[in-house]
Amino acid sequence: MSRIVYVNGDYLPEAEAKVSVFDRGFLMADGVYEVTSVLDGKLIDFQGHCVRLARSLAELEMKNPHSDAEWLAIFREIVAKNAVVDGMVYLQVTRGNPGDRDFAYPADDVAPTVVLFTQSKPGLANSPAAKTGWKVISIPDQRWGRRDIKTVQLLYPSMGKMMAKKAGVDDAWFVEDGFVTEGTSNNAYIVKGNKIITRALSNDILHGITRASVLRFAREAQFEVEERNFTIAEAQAADEAFITSASAFVMPVVEIDGAKVGSGTPGNVATRMREIYLDETRKAAL
Ligand code: PMP
Repeated sequence: MSRIVYVNGDYLPEAEAKVSVFDRGFLMADGVYEVTSVLDGKLIDFQGHCVRLARSLAELEMKNPHSDAEWLAIFREIVAKNAVVDGMVYLQVTRGNPGDRDFAYPADDVAPTVVLFTQSKPGLANSPAAKTGWKVISIPDQRWGRRDIKTVQLLYPSMGKMMAKKAGVDDAWFVEDGFVTEGTSNNAYIVKGNKIITRALSNDILHGITRASVLRFAREAQFEVEERNFTIAEAQAADEAFITSASAFVMPVVEIDGAKVGSGTPGNVATRMREIYLDETRKAAL
């Protein structure tokens, strides 16, 4: 069955879904996106993704083309049309097609381009990787200075993922001024005793929706949460490490730059936080 893709109000077979070569998303990476997980046909952490989308658009002086209720209806429709049980909804909003190439933003009457598609991932929440954990390498963070805006300029994260693949590991952690910022497409954490440590929010990292939920659940479960910088050496010496993202949920990290973290197997805290996150967000899924 061909995927049904949403483009500016229409639900089309993917081969018929088209965007202009003058679209600013294509020419200038002038667009933002969100990835929302689907479990049992329902949207995980949907409200958080809506709030961040609105913020990303506002930071780029783009109007939000839809209310949260309209977004929810579109998300539900595309999940239904593609019969997604487990997987993801990808949403992208660009500054649209002004009909030519120009650095200046076009006038307000140029409509944004809105694209959504689904990715089916049967058994997404039962990923075998969660049982073995990820290995990561560290690489310099060479991204731009507004990583808090979820833009589609993902070339460096993509290069980072390739560096990880070539090194035979699962992902890369970015390091800037000696401290870990985040993973290529996830937030990074270490665990020491009862304490979960992760970098504080700023323009240096994406404000992960999974991060916000996991930290809330961690505090509720009586873990101590410390939002501060940490180094690769501190992470290698930690009891545990893990990452969070909308599609990987909570994923243990068992090796950093060739050094085992803890016993080199997924730790209790990461495993517990994964369970809590999946339980709680499934209950609240839309
Ligand atoms: N950091 C970066 C750089 C990301 O790309 C992502 C996922 N898109 C995250 C963190 C995790 O954010 P979320 O939990 O909202 O998926």
